[in-house]
Amino acid sequence: MSNLEPDPTEASCGGRADVATVPVHDVLIGRDVVLGGPRGMSVTRTLPHRDRRMVGAWCFVDHYGPEDIGSVGTGGMRVPPHPHIGLQTVSWLVRGEVLHRDSVGSEQLIEPGQLNLMTAGAGISHSEESPPERTPVLHGAQLWGALPAEARAVAPAFAHHSDLPVVARDGLTVTVVMGTLEGATSPARTYTPLVAAEVLIGGDGGTLTLRPDFEYAVLAFEDGPVVDGRPLPAGALAYLGTGRTALPLSGAGRTLLLGGEPFEEQIVMWWNFVGRSHDDVVVARTDWEAGRGFGTVTGFDGPPLHAPELPATPLKPRGRTR
Ligand code: MN
Repeated sequence: MSNLEPDPTEASCGGRADVATVPVHDVLIGRDVVLGGPRGMSVTRTLPHRDRRMVGAWCFVDHYGPEDIGSVGTGGMRVPPHPHIGLQTVSWLVRGEVLHRDSVGSEQLIEPGQLNLMTAGAGISHSEESPPERTPVLHGAQLWGALPAEARAVAPAFAHHSDLPVVARDGLTVTVVMGTLEGATSPARTYTPLVAAEVLIGGDGGTLTLRPDFEYAVLAFEDGPVVDGRPLPAGALAYLGTGRTALPLSGAGRTLLLGGEPFEEQIVMWWNFVGRSHDDVVVARTDWEAGRGFGTVTGFDGPPLHAPELPATPLKPRGRTR
């Protein structure tokens, strides 16, 4: 997925200064962002948020749907080719299908319970769209994880994982998407200590075992989940801080647990780019507009996206949460 805001702001993120060093419970309500086009899908973005930029290496969280894409005139997802640098994208579906194409030659349909993991590294471009034959409801999330300095320019890569480990514990069904949780480890390649897991809550719920050195957040895919005693509405993200060894989950419904070691480096995010400076972003934007460095996506019916104009004033360094 792409950041299709016409006038995206530039954000400085990272560093340990504003990581909660104790358990907290801050519910972040996302803002609605239209993915573009006359029938563009709307997504709810909870990261980056005015009150919080990152959770571990996770720097971008979009939740979308459930959206009816079965009627005439509803186009579903249609995100033309666009570039990324310095990050990994995680696509996760609860319902429906999305067709991914990229500049390293991948063409992959993703379905619920599977992971599409794209590592942009030095530069990749991709498109995402609802396939012509599809389930009439689309519901999912897209995450971006920032790559650390030593990996930010790795060769671009794509992986599809349909064999993720699933652990049933009390009333919880845990699918480990990235990293390790409840003794199960995802086969997906990671570059910093982090975790992402879908947790389906049923019955009397249960308690997850957490790492006190990680910071965590939980995204609700629907109304119903109760996170550490507090109901979490659909599309909202509960930031939980660090210092937790256990997380009680009750109520009912599907959630996504995100976590990781606090990301020490300062990064600059703008549009679809994660760099270390404003100049990194300028170079990436210039290269994309010049048709350099991001390869070619074949098979998408339509032109690639143009980059928006850069903000007139370069980024002023800011703290992690402001
Ligand atoms: Mn994208």
